[in-house]
Amino acid sequence: SKEDGRGRWTLYDPSMDDEREMRNQLELDLRAAIERQEIGVAYQPFVRSNNGRIAGVEALARWTREGYGPVSPDVFIPVAESTGLIDLLGMCVLRSACFELRQWPELTLSVNVSPGQFRDPAFVGRVEEILQAADIEPRRLTLELTETYFIQNPARARQTLEMLRGMGIRVALDDFGAGFSSVGYLRQFGFDRVKIDKTLVQDITENQRSAELLHATVALARALDMPVTAEGVETGAQADALRLAGCELLQGYLFGRPSPAEEITRIVRQSYDS
Ligand code: C2E
Ligand code: CA
Ligand code: CA
Ligand code: CA
Repeated sequence: SKEDGRGRWTLYDPSMDDEREMRNQLELDLRAAIERQEIGVAYQPFVRSNNGRIAGVEALARWTREGYGPVSPDVFIPVAESTGLIDLLGMCVLRSACFELRQWPELTLSVNVSPGQFRDPAFVGRVEEILQAADIEPRRLTLELTETYFIQNPARARQTLEMLRGMGIRVALDDFGAGFSSVGYLRQFGFDRVKIDKTLVQDITENQRSAELLHATVALARALDMPVTAEGVETGAQADALRLAGCELLQGYLFGRPSPAEEITRIVRQSYDS
């Protein structure tokens, strides 16, 4: 046992120290990987629902930890967010993806942005700098954001959103339907696009309730003039249902996994050269 600050005795749990130790090591390794520019980017295609052609790619961060193997973004992104490393990591991903995009003039690019990055007043300027350096038209870039920051800090969020819009950059509401997003938020911020979370797509072909929920969600976004992307599309039946429901863009393993750039080049050729 050991005494806590208020003089009470609590049970000492050695596994807590182990966990803290492992987390510290993970953070150190992640920091080193970012500094050595070892964070990779995978590109996942999204296609137009009406013709199946690739319309763009989403950049997804990848990290192979030395001595361990690939670490899931669901593990290292939260670590990056809680340690402030996300600013650097996010800019590395954005820079790599913008330069990669130069070889695909037909495509647009989506990049995920964490609330912590969006909060930084220098964020907009950095994005602008990267677009200029890579010579990418701002309207080819969509930033994907979740509702968290819009709920926490609506006034500031709106300001940043307006600045990005002023530059021609698009902003999409990511993971829609997975959280608490209300009609109010959608209206208030006027996103350029809504991205329906894969949890809402999962069982639409097996479950009538899920299908109805999906239809209502898509109809809502469309009533507010926001085009809809559906993620997590794994079967042809899902793709058909989503197209009929009014989703303009589809993304999921059915059309392509997150892949290296060469695979995207192959898909672009297949889509546009035939
Ligand atoms: P997200 O933005 O919602 O991205 C979609 C996730 O679903 C990706 O996981 C993708 O690989 C996966 N996915 C795509 N299609 C399918 C499908 O058909 N079925 C299933 N079951 N899954 C599919 P990933 O790459 O592991 O990324 C997880 C999350 O990590 C992302 O969720 C995003 O929130 C975050 N993330 C990844 N890269 C970045 C980044 O560069 N910056 C920030 N801030 N977050 C990132
Ligand atoms: Ca996303
Ligand atoms: Ca999602
Ligand atoms: Ca997400």
